[in-house]
Amino acid sequence: MNPSTGDFKARVRVALKDRHLAQALGRARDGFVLKRRKAVDARPDFEALRDRGVAIRDHTLDHLEDYLDQFIRAFEAQGGQVHRAADAEQARRIVLDICAQADARRVTKGKSMVAEEVGLNEALDDDGYDRVETDLGEYIIQLAQETPSHIIAPAVHKTREQITELFHTHHQELGFKERTTSIPGLVNEARSVLRERFLTADVGITGANFLVAENGASVIVTNEGNGDLTATLPRVHVTVTGIEKVVPTLEDMTTLLRLLGRSATGQAMTSYTTLSTGPRRGDDLDGPLAHHVVLVDNGRSGMLTDPRYRAMLRCIRCGACLNHCPVYGAIGGHAYGWVYPGPMGSVLTPLNRGLANAPDLPQACTLNGHCAEVCPVKIPLPEMLRGLREYQFEQRVVGRGSRWGGWLWGQMASRPGLYRSVARWSARTLAWLGRGKGVLRRLPMASGWFSGGRYLPVPEGRSFMEMWGKGGGVPDSPLTPTPLPGGERGSGPQATGFSDDLPSPRGGEGSGMRGVAGRVPEFPLTRTPLPGGERGSMDTMEAFQAGLEQVGGTVEWIEQPDDIPRYLSGFMRQQGLRGPLVVAPALAYLDWAGAGLEPRFGPAQGDETVGLSRAVCGVGETGTLVLTSGADDPTTLNFLPEYHLVVLSSADVVDCLEDAWTRLRAQGQPWPRTVNLITGPSRTADVEQTIQLGAHGPRSLRVLLIR
Ligand code: SF4
Repeated sequence: MNPSTGDFKARVRVALKDRHLAQALGRARDGFVLKRRKAVDARPDFEALRDRGVAIRDHTLDHLEDYLDQFIRAFEAQGGQVHRAADAEQARRIVLDICAQADARRVTKGKSMVAEEVGLNEALDDDGYDRVETDLGEYIIQLAQETPSHIIAPAVHKTREQITELFHTHHQELGFKERTTSIPGLVNEARSVLRERFLTADVGITGANFLVAENGASVIVTNEGNGDLTATLPRVHVTVTGIEKVVPTLEDMTTLLRLLGRSATGQAMTSYTTLSTGPRRGDDLDGPLAHHVVLVDNGRSGMLTDPRYRAMLRCIRCGACLNHCPVYGAIGGHAYGWVYPGPMGSVLTPLNRGLANAPDLPQACTLNGHCAEVCPVKIPLPEMLRGLREYQFEQRVVGRGSRWGGWLWGQMASRPGLYRSVARWSARTLAWLGRGKGVLRRLPMASGWFSGGRYLPVPEGRSFMEMWGKGGGVPDSPLTPTPLPGGERGSGPQATGFSDDLPSPRGGEGSGMRGVAGRVPEFPLTRTPLPGGERGSMDTMEAFQAGLEQVGGTVEWIEQPDDIPRYLSGFMRQQGLRGPLVVAPALAYLDWAGAGLEPRFGPAQGDETVGLSRAVCGVGETGTLVLTSGADDPTTLNFLPEYHLVVLSSADVVDCLEDAWTRLRAQGQPWPRTVNLITGPSRTADVEQTIQLGAHGPRSLRVLLIR
């Protein structure tokens, strides 16, 4: 799909008149902005985290091929297969070939913007596959035959009433005869419909938020758990992702995770972060038989060599720039015409599709600078957009009126005296024209500007310079100077804190899985304030419990492992649950019959009410559980049952994720096929930004903490 000038302006006009869209965007914007603000304020070292995030991303981009090579070798050593796609056509061909070789009929998909970028959905549909989008937002827009309008909330533009009608139209033949109008009802209905599709899929396709070079892990970050069901249940798992997603180490990924959750949804950690390192191992009880990673270039190498736009490859797709953009907030995502909307899309689309195909997007910006202020990896989006505008001006690809206006502005701006006079005159004239009105809705010779409900607040009658000169309450400029790509960064690796004589990433192989350790300057971890007071006033255990409870999980103290069956029997009786109960084989040694229970031991089948698994670690920083797959620990237990209970020894609660990685490394090779970081029950906010538990995975998460 190529955006075009005419299309963009027409779409903007339509969007500005859509009152449902305005309502949905207003609700989403307020929610995202407030949640991010709260999460960022709770982390006093957030600015330092951003700096470190920038350093990690820039360093990785400086050595991209080395880290990709390291990732590929680690992933293939664990049985995975890597494919490199130079462009969208190759990416589609590779995935279609994998589906054909798997003799697939039904293909489930987790949310993947790269899959959207390469047109994979249409290709799968054209080849006759039963494609099922499993992220609730993506499922809604699949039913509506639309494209995502936000990179993390694809159906943000849909109201509850619209979703009710969509479900009523498409689910009647599945037995849902009545219209479902409540948000919990809609989420439950989607859960029921999609559960059967998860269980019968042949191929599952997901994206990846990160690829870890150190251990060959592809990492997905979700709240619903649909990504895990998509990756675990089908015979074949395909990860489709961009080459820039690679990071050197687990610690680097952890820093970016801290930035991603807070910037995207205001969460310290999303419910599920999963590291997958290949197909099912010989003694695994579940997981895909084959795992492919498709590394998509599609213009990224070109951006890498262009110092002006290279920093765009730092993007971790958090969506914060969209949420804080007044233009996106007014017109929504579809008006941008391609998969990436908002400020990041206004840069990415012209770079990827060609400026000639998206000439209006660099202009779809007020240059207020808010996007750069909130971007967790400090991408100078306004400067990039201004650069694209300058290029358009130089190439004379903008209309005569705009060029003339730009020239006139340049003449004025380079003559301070003239500029001040014109600004003074304009402020007074506009104030006089709008006297007593509050806002201006029309101006002589500018009627086009006011189309689609636009208006201009009436100025005070004094120019900015007049107010500034008198010290008269001028607010701080929202523009924060940010380094230009290729500008200050041009001073080389030192600019990001790396030294020139660092060992090459490959040079560290001999030092084991952490072969690239030592590159990133040491960065002191600060303690994270949690509800109930500063994190420093809590011990690790209290912080773990508080973190888990904050996200809807619960903790139950158990004296000793032998007490678990009796506790579970009482819990099920109290909750009115009959089972089936499925238990990790690792816990089969307990006296279940003595407690009157007859659990299944092994992977979950999809009909279980209660699942019991064990965690290798708990993380105090965020209340996160760390679970690994293996012969005695099936992954499906963590996602299919409605009630998920997890056994954790209190001796295994560590301070932060870095400590968990140290423990896992100490276990030696091989790295587990899957590492699940679980921080609360499954959740979604895809219907009117209202949080509902139990989107696809467990509705309830309870930790049995052994003293
Ligand atoms: S450009 Fe920055 S704020 Fe926007 S999605 Fe990317 S990382 Fe997030």
